Amino acid sequence: MKNYIIALDGPAGSGKSTIAKIIAKDFNLTYLDTGAMYRMVALYMLENNIAFENIKNVENVLDNIKVDIINDKFILNDEDVSLKIRTPEVTKIVSPISAIKAVRTKLVDLQREISKGKKVILDGRDIGTVVFPNADLKVFLVASPEERAKRRVNDYASKGIQEDFQTVLKDILERDHIDSTRKESPLKKADDAIEVDTSFLNIEESVKAISDLIKDKIGG
Ligand code: C5P
Repeated sequence: MKNYIIALDGPAGSGKSTIAKIIAKDFNLTYLDTGAMYRMVALYMLENNIAFENIKNVENVLDNIKVDIINDKFILNDEDVSLKIRTPEVTKIVSPISAIKAVRTKLVDLQREISKGKKVILDGRDIGTVVFPNADLKVFLVASPEERAKRRVNDYASKGIQEDFQTVLKDILERDHIDSTRKESPLKKADDAIEVDTSFLNIEESVKAISDLIKDKIGG
């Protein structure tokens, strides 16, 4: 079957990455976690003490940042940072950094490059609107903020990180706000995206809903 692109967008904690990983395996697709790429840039700013509030400072170091994804590992300048990019410290600063135009241009170019000539599922915020406006299938995942916060707390716990529900909920609402009101590629459902609400669906049910859409729209 020909190559195709599936865009899976939605806010933090809507279940995108968990679902995308399973779908990728079931349909033999390449999975691209675009949030992880923004997290790698944020980690670089954190570790190098870059005052990212000043956009110029970020623009000046962008060429020093090499982002690779090798066998599901996230590699920042030749170091495996797969675990480091998931800490609350990175999560707190990733939204303002990903609102910077030069950061987005760099990573969107890379996302298109990696996807070339493959069957790919990408998860993110702007895949269906900006990165691949002609994607073969666009899904927009949503879930209530409380449900998403609950999932994130469990996620952290499984990595041995203790975060309380209220802190995570506040962070999610803050990220939703920054991501959806920013000037560059705001988080937004594409007009032709299909919305799937996962608030009352478990992972299996969510995967089934999206698998059915793939079979329906793309086949196979
Ligand atoms: O999906 P995840 O929570 O890992 O994404 C981290 C952050 O990266 C988001 O809050 C958002 O600010 C940014 N992001 C983005 N565009 C994407 C993917 C993620 O701006 N395509």
